[in-house]
Amino acid sequence: MSKILIVEDEPDMVLGLKDNFEFEGYEVLTASDGAAGLERARAHKPDLLILDIMLPKLSGLEVCKTLRTEGFTMPILMLTARGQEIDKVVGLELGADDYVTKPFSIREVLARVRAILRRTEGPKKRLARYHFSDIDLDFETYVATKAGAPLDLSPREFELLRYLIERKGETVTRDRLLEDVWGYESYPSTRTVDTHIAKLRAKIGDSGSEPRYVLTIHGAGYKFVDPS
Ligand code: CA
Repeated sequence: MSKILIVEDEPDMVLGLKDNFEFEGYEVLTASDGAAGLERARAHKPDLLILDIMLPKLSGLEVCKTLRTEGFTMPILMLTARGQEIDKVVGLELGADDYVTKPFSIREVLARVRAILRRTEGPKKRLARYHFSDIDLDFETYVATKAGAPLDLSPREFELLRYLIERKGETVTRDRLLEDVWGYESYPSTRTVDTHIAKLRAKIGDSGSEPRYVLTIHGAGYKFVDPS
């Protein structure tokens, strides 16, 4: 389960957050001033930081800036007080991922944290093997067969198929496929996705006009369905 560091100097606030996060199954560390928070973040490398801005010794903004300068990339959720609009903007510029304004409900903080972790954590364990229709896929060795005969898929086609199968029943946008299967650095266009899907369909015996496995969701993206 995810490890969370709460850096906050109001004891009641810390207790309320800690209890609720622990109840949800998170491992919770706490620190009551900015300097201690920075030390704990360095030493324990939490999966996420809940960071108050107004803190003794070192402000939340300074903690955030220092961690980012030192190369720490864990997500940071800032706690700001009403009327600290400037701090929110500065915080986001310094590398915070999101903020909540006090007074907040614990449920809101929990929801924000879950959303941030969903965005930043990939799937825990990648799918190793999959079988559908007459097709067998081994994503670790990149070996595929169709009705027992070798099926020649490129590594990219394997990854594309694995990504869609891991999210079967869910519509995945072209942009998400580009980001997660191709990666930011290669800058392909969304047409690239369509071309690869067309080739992939032809290879697995799926139809371009009436696909059964890799469906086109008009205006949205693609979805894998397992007909079995
Ligand atoms: Ca405070």
